[in-house]
Amino acid sequence: MRIFETMSADETFACARKIAEQAEPGQVYALIGDLGAGKTVFAQGFARGLGVDDYVNSPTFTILQIYEDGRIPFYHFDVYRIEESEEMEEVGFDDYICGDGVCLIEWAGRIEELMPEDTITVTIEKDLNRGPDYRRITIDENTCY
Ligand code: ADP
Ligand code: MG
Repeated sequence: MRIFETMSADETFACARKIAEQAEPGQVYALIGDLGAGKTVFAQGFARGLGVDDYVNSPTFTILQIYEDGRIPFYHFDVYRIEESEEMEEVGFDDYICGDGVCLIEWAGRIEELMPEDTITVTIEKDLNRGPDYRRITIDENTCY
């Protein structure tokens, strides 16, 4: 378990970029955190660390955005609006999590039952006692799903 503390969106971006520089094909990252925690900022830094040049935003209305111009394909999911796991089957979730790219799933808690056993969980939390821009980012490589 690794814990990072950031004081700005830029620091969260940089933290995610460094993590992505070590990312390997086939990895699945679950992003957990409330609305406004910084999941999309993390995804943007992560994409940059994979060498993706395209602008990454929240794929809320599409579930999945694919970026293939980086070092490894990047599959960015936002499953906020998912209501049934069948919807994940429809987008081909199983193929992506077993594929050659890296999956990063915002709101992964909503599809916990579909997450593979070796998922890496990234939890982003605020602590208002530390100021509005403080975030604690916990990386857990051994979550039991
Ligand atoms: P989410 O995808 O979790 O809903 P976003 O990444 O879209 O959240 O938004 C996070 C918001 O919080 C942005 O407006 C960002 O500028 C702001 N912010 C402030 N401090 C931080 C920080 N330390 N890390 C990430 N985002 C931060
Ligand atoms: Mg988001």
